[in-house]
Parts: sequence; C-alpha cells; structure tokens
Amino acid sequence: MKRHILTTALAGTLVLAPAVSLAEETFAIAIHGGAGTITRESMTPEREAQYKAKLKEAVDAGYAILEQGGASMDAVIAAVKILEDSPLFNAGRGAVYTWEGQHELDASIMNGATLEAGAVASVTTVKSPIALAREVMENSPHVMLSGAGAEMFAKQQGLDLVDNSYFNTKSRYEALQRMKEQVGNPQDKTAWQQLPEEYKHGTVGAVAVDKHGNLAAATSTGGMTGKRWGRVGDSPIIGAGTWADNSSCAISATGHGEYFIRFHVAADICARVKYLHQDIVTAGDTVIHDVLAPVGGTGGVIIVDPQGQVHMPFNTEGMYRAKRQAGQTAEVAIYKN
Ligand code: ASP
Repeated sequence: MKRHILTTALAGTLVLAPAVSLAEETFAIAIHGGAGTITRESMTPEREAQYKAKLKEAVDAGYAILEQGGASMDAVIAAVKILEDSPLFNAGRGAVYTWEGQHELDASIMNGATLEAGAVASVTTVKSPIALAREVMENSPHVMLSGAGAEMFAKQQGLDLVDNSYFNTKSRYEALQRMKEQVGNPQDKTAWQQLPEEYKHGTVGAVAVDKHGNLAAATSTGGMTGKRWGRVGDSPIIGAGTWADNSSCAISATGHGEYFIRFHVAADICARVKYLHQDIVTAGDTVIHDVLAPVGGTGGVIIVDPQGQVHMPFNTEGMYRAKRQAGQTAEVAIYKN
C-alpha cells in the first residue's frame, strides 16, 4: 500500500504525492519443479497445461503470503507443499523410486535472516518432507536428520505420516523399469553416469524475499531414479541445494546432485554475490554455464536477492519454473526458448 505525504508544489499549493517506500514494496518469489530434457516435442498440450497450472497455483500461494506482509519462510513452505502434493513433480507424492522400489525423500530449508537451517534425508513415511525440515530447524538442536531417526522426530512433532506407497505413481514406476534395463548391473558406474537426464533430474524448490527484507529458500526431492545404498543428493545439503543469506541471495537448486554437492553450487553463487559483489545474473550464469556445464554438471537454480530481483539460469533443455514479483502477475515457463 502506498503512503501519501504532503509536498509543496512550485506554486506554493499543498498537493498529495505518493511516497513510495521501496522497502515496503519489495517482495518476490520464484519456484522450480525440476530441470532436465524437457522439450516441446516431448510434451502434450494437456500435460503442459497441467504443469503450468500447478506452477501458477504454487507461486500465487507464496505470493499471497508475501503480499499480506507474511514471512518469506511461510511463503516458500506454502509453495513447496503444493508441489510436493502434486504427482507431476519428483517430490512428495510423485517421487521417483529407489532401486528397491521404494521412495526416499530429501528436503532442506534455510532462513536468510538468522542463517538457521534444517534438513532431512532418506525419509520414507513423512508426507511433507519440507515441513519436517522446518521442524528440524525450529524445534531440534540439529541441522540435519536422516532415516529412522528423522521419522521418529516427525512422529514426535505430530507431522502427517503416510505409507510409503502414498508416493507411488505409475509413470515413475515405469521409469524405474526402463532405468534398470539400461544400467543392468547397479554397480556399473559408467552406465549410471551415461544415463539420460530424465533419470537424474526432478526436484521442487522455492526462494523468496518478503517485505521485511528477509530471504528464505526451500528444496524438496525424491532424488534420482534407481538410487541405492541410501544415496543422498544435494537437495538436503545446505550450501549445495539450498542457501539463503539476507546479505547476498537465496537459492534452490535442481540438477545432477553429485555435481551440485561437489561444486557447492548454492553457496558458491551467493558467495560470489557477497564477496565479489556480482549481481545474481552474473554469479548464477557463471556457476551454471561456466563452472558446471563444462564438467557435465546438468541442472539449474532459482535465485532471489534482497532487492526482489529474480534469476533462473539452467543448462538443460528446460526447467519448470515460475516467478512473481511485487505488483506483477505470475510468469510461468518450462522451455529454454
Ligand atoms: N538434485 C536432485 C538430486 O540429485 C535431483 C534434481 O534436482 O533433479 O537428488
């Protein structure tokens, strides 16, 4: 809402002029639903419409919270929960299958104002892993919980628990069968590395800055199709898949986790902003296109800065994404061009 102040016009008459408070008007949210080989040719108009509608619903839900003066933390959680509940995305319901035919979910969250963070890895019965990540941050003395211990904590905190089959979808099951045929022996490292992107990608995430200038980031995923031996990707690793710092930026990543972990992607981009004073476009493009792409690290990130700027670079064919900045309508996109 704009305030009015009294100003004296040249002629000496008093007139009302809008006093735009930049701090008050600055807020923004961006979300993603995974990057990968997503092309127009591989999409039907119906499916494309479903993805766009769900992305819009999620970004609008987060935006509504920010518009009312709510916290960025609440906005990113609201957006991610909508994507977790949708079978379209590889997070929550619709998560990919492990080699053994189960679902193991990872998630993390970070508060840019306090630099507090929470993460969970390999949970199997928690309906909303992002809600559990928040519980870890706010109500445990730790940053990251995994497996059975994380489930125990979820139960203790009264979160919704479901049977692992709740996360089942036919399309992800078929993807596991195709993946197994291609890999053959699960220990064949080269066959794994040569798998098409569709098996390594998919995650949801949100970043936001609220009217108070606070940043937050959240990421939730089922990980890689056919993952084994308790594999954990970048999504629950603070600094790799998620980062938020009011003095630089907030990031949620999606991509081949083995690369995002080793290149510490989310923290690297924000460190460039903080210490090299780069803008988020320069920092994000450098890491995604000049650092990751040459070594084969595929994926992308969504970035928001304290001024409400948004950048969403990726080095794949597409990335499900949407953004909404103060006073604007939602922009939803899928493909590179
Ligand atoms: N980063 C996720 C992982 O490696 C997957 C993805 O975002 O596509 O588990």
